[in-house]
Amino acid sequence: MRYFSTNDKLKGYSFETVVMSGLANDGGLFVPEYIPQFTNDEQSNINSESFNEIAFDISKKFIGNAINNNDLLSIIKNAFNFEPKFVELEKDLIILELFHGPTLAFKDYGARFMANVMSHFAKNKKNKLTILVATSGDTGSAVANAFYMKEGIDVYILYPSGMVSNFQEKQLTTFDGNITSIEIDGTFDDCQKIVKSSFIDIVLNKKINLTSANSINIARLIPQSFYYLKTYKKYSDENITFIVPSGNLGNLTAGLYADKMGMKNVSFISALNSNRMFFEYLLNGSKTSRDTIRTISNAMDVGNPSNLDRIIDLFDNNLYEMKAKICSYYFDDSDTVESLKECFQKYNYLLDPHGAIGYSAMKTDKKLSTKNSKYIILETAHPSKFVDVVEPLINKKIEIPKRLSSCLNKQKKSVKLSNSFTDFKDYLLANS
Ligand SMILES: *Cc1c(COP(=O)(O)O)cnc(C)c1O
Repeated sequence: MRYFSTNDKLKGYSFETVVMSGLANDGGLFVPEYIPQFTNDEQSNINSESFNEIAFDISKKFIGNAINNNDLLSIIKNAFNFEPKFVELEKDLIILELFHGPTLAFKDYGARFMANVMSHFAKNKKNKLTILVATSGDTGSAVANAFYMKEGIDVYILYPSGMVSNFQEKQLTTFDGNITSIEIDGTFDDCQKIVKSSFIDIVLNKKINLTSANSINIARLIPQSFYYLKTYKKYSDENITFIVPSGNLGNLTAGLYADKMGMKNVSFISALNSNRMFFEYLLNGSKTSRDTIRTISNAMDVGNPSNLDRIIDLFDNNLYEMKAKICSYYFDDSDTVESLKECFQKYNYLLDPHGAIGYSAMKTDKKLSTKNSKYIILETAHPSKFVDVVEPLINKKIEIPKRLSSCLNKQKKSVKLSNSFTDFKDYLLANS
């Protein structure tokens, strides 16, 4: 399997190159040259397969011979020591819980697969790999956790001092070894600027083998298709509508890849908060980027989602076909709050603010749509990650899972730096 940039369909790249570089030199996103199909055989024994068996079959099709079978098996085993779970609120309303990984968000699927693949490629190289990540909170902890103790890889996580929650900070700063947390005296944008400046700095790049681990890496997308296929296998005798709480549209793109591999009678709803660029794109094909609006579903606060280019590419720029497959709704914080409360009262099931947007989308679609379909809401994070928002709404203390609470007692370790790139550069040159 070869990969291409969304900006250039002539030059092909290997899987290793696209994983290790993240973004194409021409600024485009890497996409596979075709979407692999599952065979009739695979379709029929699909129900009996475990999550990791599905993961192996699908990733093999995307990776080909770039990683041998034994190594791929151990990558998958290391990455997925947890599984998605299904909760049936009603016969036709299912919650797909994606938060059973170590940092309680679906980002564990992508980050852990990517980390294990990168470490496989980095292992026998002369130079160690240095990964820089800017985070406003959640991505950083999934990435730190995924790369912890990976041989041949150092990770620097930059976060804005005083601007992440106590929980998030503890999840970011209680590692040691190959993970270093850098506390920047500035904003998230400052952190991003420092990371971007680092990638184009000649001196740094000469001395250090730098790469990024952000959400546009194809190795984060591929594993997110596995749980769609697992769900399809379980419920494929009915029409299925996946409801995807969306921000940068990575999760939705992975679902669309899974669909193209051979799913039948499946459609998608992209559930958005007030950051509604994708809704507008579906409406009239306009890609007007907007300032990011802050909401209580903050992992979806994305003004200009980068995976839109991958979706446009997948549909060959055919808006009509895209609209036949995907619809979108958007909701503000008061809708989110109402849905979170309603689901708790009606089903005694506590959603997080992101999943609550999915619930709002289900209610709206039920009113507007005539088709008979099973709704699958992707629950992307555990509600305890947003304890400050959720507890006052339901007037009740919620239980914090041990894997989240255990880091609260650990010692915070961080390096404090100013928001100037030069300070970071000096630090990196002196310490790596
Ligand atoms: C990142 C994230 C999302 C948005 O996913 P995208 O792939 O960026 O669309 C939704 N919910 C949670 C909890 C997230 O962390």
